[in-house]
Amino acid sequence: MDSKDIHVIVIGAGITGLLTCQALKKAGIKYSIFEKEQSLNVRSNEWTMAIHWSLPLLKEIVPADVFAKMDAIACNPVLGIHSGLYPIIKGETGELIMGVPYENGLRVPRSKMRAVAATGIEVQYGKLLTDLAFNESGDGVVATFSDGTLVPATMIIGADGPKSRVREFAMGSAEEAAVTRFSIFHTNMTVCYGDAEKALFVRKQYPTSYLALSEQSFHAFQSISSMPDGPDHPETWKFHMAMAWLGEVDNSLDYKARLALIKERAAGLGEPAHSAFMWLPDDTEVHKADISYWISQPWDNRRGRMTLVGDAAHPMPPYRGQGLNHCINDVWHLSKGLTEMLSGASGEPAAATADAQKLTLAEVVTRYEAEMVPRGAEEVRCSVENGYMLHDWKKIQQSPVFNRGFKPMDGHGGAAAAAGPVKPNAAPNGVVEENPLSEHAQVQLRRDAELAAAAETATASA
Ligand SMILES: Cc1cc2nc3c(=O)[nH]c(=O)nc-3n(C[C@H](O)[C@H](O)[C@H](O)COP(=O)(O)OP(=O)(O)OC[C@H]3O[C@@H](n4cnc5c(N)ncnc54)[C@H](O)[C@@H]3O)c2cc1C
Repeated sequence: MDSKDIHVIVIGAGITGLLTCQALKKAGIKYSIFEKEQSLNVRSNEWTMAIHWSLPLLKEIVPADVFAKMDAIACNPVLGIHSGLYPIIKGETGELIMGVPYENGLRVPRSKMRAVAATGIEVQYGKLLTDLAFNESGDGVVATFSDGTLVPATMIIGADGPKSRVREFAMGSAEEAAVTRFSIFHTNMTVCYGDAEKALFVRKQYPTSYLALSEQSFHAFQSISSMPDGPDHPETWKFHMAMAWLGEVDNSLDYKARLALIKERAAGLGEPAHSAFMWLPDDTEVHKADISYWISQPWDNRRGRMTLVGDAAHPMPPYRGQGLNHCINDVWHLSKGLTEMLSGASGEPAAATADAQKLTLAEVVTRYEAEMVPRGAEEVRCSVENGYMLHDWKKIQQSPVFNRGFKPMDGHGGAAAAAGPVKPNAAPNGVVEENPLSEHAQVQLRRDAELAAAAETATASA
């Protein structure tokens, strides 16, 4: 197959979709990328992400001038790409429990990473994928969008995130593709203290980020997110803050009520987390993240005409910092296969090497999925297990992040297949318990109920 014969549709302009287009563009493959939102970074919800083991792969995917921007978009541009130890501290005392090693990594804000990944990529916005049809000839696919547009192509790549529509087509039904909710109340905030002394104080000990684990089984996270006017203007620094605890999510709570829950917990913390959270301004927008997962499993790729990358293929809880690293790994594997198909095995253009082993699209996509599905399944399982353990003080020391750090899992061959699918409401390792919440999570739930009752009484008597 020649590159001019291929047209790839990419659904979703998140980081994975945009990186996929970077790789396709580099390989000279025609692509069209569609995003349901009206613009990039349209939502105010922001978070920061650590890229570590996948950084060398990212370097191969994007053009050199795009990779060169990575240092500048780092949350801590003073450090840029660097090696170090990620501090996990005890919330109540601020003392270091352990430093998780990473080599040549960096932490980036999602909005800036997305903007860099979009360099030179023309995205078609306001395009919600609604339907897919496969030509009976065995070649080609037609995507339908909510505005009625029909787009034919050689293949479609679903990079449409955790609740992927493409995954529903791949799995054959919405039920088979449905995510399982991870029972956690996870909040994300961006804050600027507007006060140089406060900003300097909260990052004195841990200049980029830290994860504080509380004896009360919740986590408090802080990272510098950006320095809009540079390192010499701490009054303008922005921070990404997160706090999360296991339990049911009360969807009726507004920003103010969520902030009250956060400060109630932060009151018992030591420095630096105590001040970092107690100083959150009253008008802080406390966003709730829907944390969910889907254990990757094989699908019918329709002779290579449909596949998944990124969170669409393996949505997972974020507490071992693996999601984006696997997204990058997916793009690297898939684009390598497509490039090989177009080049012939020898690396020469296929047309020029009559004896070159000619890979078909079906072979390339099947080979990609054979590597990705078990890897994704294993990592999702591990991240679910890690998520439960990190939010249960009695178990943190046994958690994967304590024992394995940020290293990717490497036993995915048999492990994932043998384990089978995790059932909804199942605890880690697929063991179904009567109540999947830990003792601590149940305490948290009772405290939330008490707080809600107290708030209602206060409102009634006002
Ligand atoms: C709080 C938090 C912290 C994290 N920290 C880390 C970390 O430290 N390290 C790490 O590696 N990972 C981390 N992650 C995970 C990482 O953020 C994700 O793995 C990654 O951003 C997924 O990108 P994506 O492009 O695959 O999906 P998304 O960002 O979800 O993008 C999907 C896109 O598809 C669009 N879309 C959806 N449906 C359709 C449709 N039908 N038609 C058209 N468009 C559609 C959406 O609008 C969206 O723009 C973290 C995640 C969270 C929530």
